[in-house]
Amino acid sequence: MSELTTVLRGVDAVLPGGRRTADIGIGSDGTIAAIGDAGSLSARQVRDAAGLVAIPGGVDLHVHLDTYFGGTTTRDDFTTGTRAALFGGTTTIAQFAIPRPGETTLDAAERTEVEARDAALSDYAVHGSTVRERYEESVAQLPELPARGIGTVKIFAAYTDVIGLTPDQIERLLGVAARSGLTVFIHAETDDDVRAGIAHEVDLGETGPVGHARSRTPAAETSSVGANAELARRTGARVYFVHMSSAGSIAELAARRARGERLFAETCPHYLFLDEALYARSDGAKWICSPPIRDAANRDALWRGVLDGTLDAVSSDHNCFDVDQKGPVGTDFRKVPNGLPGIEFRVPLLVGAAIEGRLPWERLVQVSSEGPAKVLGLWPRKGALAAGSDADIVLIDPGASTDLGTSHMATDYSPYAGQSSRGRIVSVYRRGDLVVDGANLDARPGSGHRLTVRPN
Ligand SMILES: [Zn+2]
Repeated sequence: MSELTTVLRGVDAVLPGGRRTADIGIGSDGTIAAIGDAGSLSARQVRDAAGLVAIPGGVDLHVHLDTYFGGTTTRDDFTTGTRAALFGGTTTIAQFAIPRPGETTLDAAERTEVEARDAALSDYAVHGSTVRERYEESVAQLPELPARGIGTVKIFAAYTDVIGLTPDQIERLLGVAARSGLTVFIHAETDDDVRAGIAHEVDLGETGPVGHARSRTPAAETSSVGANAELARRTGARVYFVHMSSAGSIAELAARRARGERLFAETCPHYLFLDEALYARSDGAKWICSPPIRDAANRDALWRGVLDGTLDAVSSDHNCFDVDQKGPVGTDFRKVPNGLPGIEFRVPLLVGAAIEGRLPWERLVQVSSEGPAKVLGLWPRKGALAAGSDADIVLIDPGASTDLGTSHMATDYSPYAGQSSRGRIVSVYRRGDLVVDGANLDARPGSGHRLTVRPN
């Protein structure tokens, strides 16, 4: 056991075995050296943490920093994005290395590794990604990813006009991924249905945000989940469905899991905490994302999926555009870049739900850090308050609140403007270092560690 440098005394700790009042001892090597009964541990520095809740640092599996999409690039980079992540209680992110025009999968991974190296403040992993352009070369490169510490590859079933893959291409890629031990992250929306939906809304003259929402139906998502899960079953690939938004998809996943299929899936805070009525607003473009935010019935099903374990993770799908990029009122939805800023709000929103009693704390930890860490093969080094784990610890004052109207994200709007959430993050430790202390940040660009992901 390494020497204890700091003890968080008497904290309300959400441990893998349940929640209890404890002392958490941080070791000089940046790991959790010991967890004991309240008052049982001592060190040079003892912090009275009575009344605060401790959870493991968040692991956000779905982040797009400095990402080119729809003719524009997100406003943040690894420094501003991971700074916001730390303020929001997320100490590990996983970035998608999506090939830019002309790049192969390996080109994009190499570029992303360079972008992150001297810039990241949080720890980070890199996801590979294969797109339509240079597909053949990229698929041939996939077996090389594990040696680079990359265990995942993202593909898109939608957007076949720019980056998406056809079902045949997906099936071949899944086969290669299965043989290489790669987990495949799938954006599941049936492209033909989406195209027909868009054409229909445009024919009706419905080119605003409401048209966007109607053009991408829950059924288009669910049919793609089913079709791609079937391909995964046939090829033996380990797949993870990103940003589930609909009741039908949850039912599809639950039914397949009940039959023993090995599938993973996430949803995102905006599908859990926001309503499709936002699209009727004149500034509704701020909430344009794909799939779109849905109605209460779908939202209720997603919450059930979070609670019953059908969903493994809640990830931000952080895409940090500003109001200018989203375009003036009246912009055709086909010209609005898709995605919402959210890296900083993910954990606070879930914490608010926990304090309100809608989400057990243990389940919060499972979807915000433990589950994501397991998908990457990083648990229990990440995603657990346990002896031997990295001392990534978030302390929360459950009696305070968080204003969701402002953030450290590199944008000029909040999707949650006017809302607040119960509970406030007061401190964040990253590998034992106190990096967020109230409003202060003490972490320099480049101090985030690259995490290599074990293939499965
Ligand atoms: Zn995404």
